[in-house]
Amino acid sequence: MYKHQLAEGIQCTDVLGKIVCVGRNYADHAKELNNSIPKQPILFIKPATSAVNMAEPIVIPKDQGSCHHELELAVLIGKRLKNANAEQVKAAIAGIGLAFDLTLRDMQNQLKEKAQPWERAKAFDGACPLSQFVPLAEVDLQNIDLELKRNGDIQQSGNTSAMLFPVINLLIEISQSFSLLPGDVVLTGTPAGVGSLNAGDLLLATLSFNHTLLIEVETTVF
Ligand code: ZN
Repeated sequence: MYKHQLAEGIQCTDVLGKIVCVGRNYADHAKELNNSIPKQPILFIKPATSAVNMAEPIVIPKDQGSCHHELELAVLIGKRLKNANAEQVKAAIAGIGLAFDLTLRDMQNQLKEKAQPWERAKAFDGACPLSQFVPLAEVDLQNIDLELKRNGDIQQSGNTSAMLFPVINLLIEISQSFSLLPGDVVLTGTPAGVGSLNAGDLLLATLSFNHTLLIEVETTVF
């Protein structure tokens, strides 16, 4: 079973609760999939059973069409949040990390056509590889660089300044619908550049702030 890997200085349970995700939080990504820009965050949940260690090989579900990588900033919750204000949200962020919101894109498109929920496409076992979490410290949440290299080529490159809904606002809004508990994780959306994973791919995902590398994960695809 997945357990959070917590860097030194993080006070939080290592037990994962739920993973709350945000769809279309970067305009360039909404555009690349021909989706409209949302007026309110689009929220969905991945269960704890979808989480795996990002450093382990990523296993793509077989015979289910394309499986897209979506590299995202992940926020680890350290305190309970319910109808929270900005101060409470800031105090509840235990750490930040990287996540892949793996998505069976062909299946998701079929589900969207039928106006059905996305869980089959986004909540399967292994659908949420998570990195180690590091303390937020002096990092500005809205100036973080995310980058994904696939087989040496830059596939996704974005900065959290381009988010439609900034992290603090997202957490405030989420806490109005779902209580967030210590150990829960929030995925904050993906920048443009999503694409299909293929067996044998070598992935290098990084999170950095002011040119300082915070997290680097190398993994392979099965
Ligand atoms: Zn996503």
